[in-house]
Amino acid sequence: MADQALLKEFEAVVGADNVMSAESDTHAYSYDAAVLDSVAPAVVVRPTETEQLGQITALCNKHGLPLTVRGAGTNLSGGTIPSKGGVVVLTGALNKVIELNTDDLYAIVQPGVVTAKFAADVAAKGLFYPPDPGSQAVSTLGGNVAENAGGLRGLKYGVTKDYLMGISFFDVDGNLVKSGSRTVKCVTGYNLPGLMTASEGTLGVFNELTLKLIPPPQAAQSMMAVFDDVQAASKTVSAIIAAKILPATLEFMDNFTIRTVDNFRKAGLPTDAAALLLIEVDGHPAQVAEEAEKVEKICSEHGARSVDVARDADHRAKVWQARRDALPALANLKPTCVLEDATVPRSKIPAMMQALDRISKEFKLTIGTFGHAGDGNLHPTILTDKRNHDEWVRVEKAIDAIFDEALAMGGTLSGEHGIGMAKAKYMEQETSRATIEFSRRMKKSLDPKGILNPGKIISALLD
Ligand SMILES: Cc1cc2nc3c(=O)[nH]c(=O)nc-3n(C[C@H](O)[C@H](O)[C@H](O)COP(=O)(O)OP(=O)(O)OC[C@H]3O[C@@H](n4cnc5c(N)ncnc54)[C@H](O)[C@@H]3O)c2cc1C
Repeated sequence: MADQALLKEFEAVVGADNVMSAESDTHAYSYDAAVLDSVAPAVVVRPTETEQLGQITALCNKHGLPLTVRGAGTNLSGGTIPSKGGVVVLTGALNKVIELNTDDLYAIVQPGVVTAKFAADVAAKGLFYPPDPGSQAVSTLGGNVAENAGGLRGLKYGVTKDYLMGISFFDVDGNLVKSGSRTVKCVTGYNLPGLMTASEGTLGVFNELTLKLIPPPQAAQSMMAVFDDVQAASKTVSAIIAAKILPATLEFMDNFTIRTVDNFRKAGLPTDAAALLLIEVDGHPAQVAEEAEKVEKICSEHGARSVDVARDADHRAKVWQARRDALPALANLKPTCVLEDATVPRSKIPAMMQALDRISKEFKLTIGTFGHAGDGNLHPTILTDKRNHDEWVRVEKAIDAIFDEALAMGGTLSGEHGIGMAKAKYMEQETSRATIEFSRRMKKSLDPKGILNPGKIISALLD
C-alpha cells in the first residue's frame, strides 16, 4: 500500500481519479505480454496532459521511486514490468494527433496514440505511415519508438527509427528536452531521437514525437508461395533478395503454424504444406507487374508447389489476416507461449531453420516458427506450460541455444521486440564488456538514482 502523503502528491498533479493504488489496480499493471513473473507497483498514475508526465517524473526522482511508463504493455521482453514499490505511468489518455502536415509530410503526436488509428488517420489524408507491428491495433506510438518496433513492411520501408524525425522528452528531473525537427534534414546537436529509439523507458519519458509520412504506393500485389520443403522456402527468401527485388513484405510460416492458424480461423490455408512464403510487391503499377512476375518465377524455380496471386482486395486482406493470426493462434494452444525474435543475416535463414528444427528435437519442445523472413527476423514460438517444471527448464535451455545459434551466425538478440528484462543477461554475449560499461556510464549520468525503468536492457548489470 502506498504512503498516503505520497498519493496526495500524485493527486495534486493528475487529480484523485487518475491515481490508483488498490490491489486490483496495481495487479492489473504488474505484468505485460512477456512470460516473466509479475511485480505489482505501489501506485498507478494516469496523466491527461503531457506536462504532467514531467511533473510525475520529477516527483519520482525526488522520492527515489522507480518509474515505468506503460503504453499498451504489448512488448514481449518485460519492458513494462514495474519495480516493487514503484510507479506505473499510463500514457493511454495522451492520445492526441497534434498536427498532421500534408505539405511537409510529417505528424506530431502524443505518445499514447494507438498505432493503427494513427495509420488510418494518415491514410485518410492520402499519406502512408508504414511501421505496422502485429500489435498495431492496440500498441502506442510511444511504445513503438521505445522498442523501435518493426512489422510486416520492415523489409522495404524500414522500422520505427526510420520515421522518427524529432522527439521531446522529460529528463529525470522533469525538464523538457527537444531534439530533431520538422525538416527532412537536421543535424543540430547530438542525435537524441536516435538515442531515445529502443531506450525502453530507461533514459527519458517521451512527451511528443514528430513522425515522417510518405506517399502511399500506387499499386500492390500479394502472393502466397506454397512449399513442400522448408529449406526450399528458406532458400527462396535469399534468392528473391539476391535478384535485387525488395518486396514490401516477405513473410514465412512453417507447417505447424499454418495448421494452427487454419484451425484458428478456417483461413483455407494449404495445411499439408511444409512452409508458406507470403510476399507483397508494391510501387508503380508497371514495376509491380514486373516484380510480381519475377518473384513468381523465382519461387517456382526454387521448388514452390504453387504460387497463388491475390485476386482482389478481399483475398489480399485474407492472406495478411492469416499471417497476423499466427501469434494469437499459437498462443491459444498451450498455457504458456514464449515468442522469441532472434534475427540472422537473411542468407542464414536456411541454416537458422535447420538449427531451430534441431533445437526443438533436442529439447523435446513444440516450436512453431513464423516471421519476417525478408528481414532475417524469425519468431520461433515455444508452446509450453510454465507450471511443468521439467519442461520449463528445457524451454530455458532451448532459448539459450536459439540465441547462441543466432549470434554465432552473425545475428542479433532482437530484431524488434527489444531487450527489456528478458534478454538483459545476453547483452554482453552480443556486444562487449566495454559496451555494457559505456551504456552503464551513460545511464548513470542521465539517471543517477536509477529510477527510470530499472532492470531493463543493461540496468540488470548495474551495481
Ligand atoms: C500479438 C503481438 C504482436 C506483436 N508484433 C510485433 C511486431 O510485428 N513488431 C514489433 O516490433 N513488435 C511486435 N510486438 C511487440 C510490441 O507490440 C511492440 O514492442 C510495441 O512497440 C509495444 O508498444 P506498447 O504501446 O504496447 O508499449 P509498452 O509495451 O507499453 O512499452 C514498451 C516499452 O516502451 C516504454 N515506453 C512506452 N511509452 C513510453 C514513453 N512515452 N516514454 C518512454 N518510454 C515509453 C515502456 O516503458 C517499455 O519499456 C507484438 C506484440 C504482441 C503482443
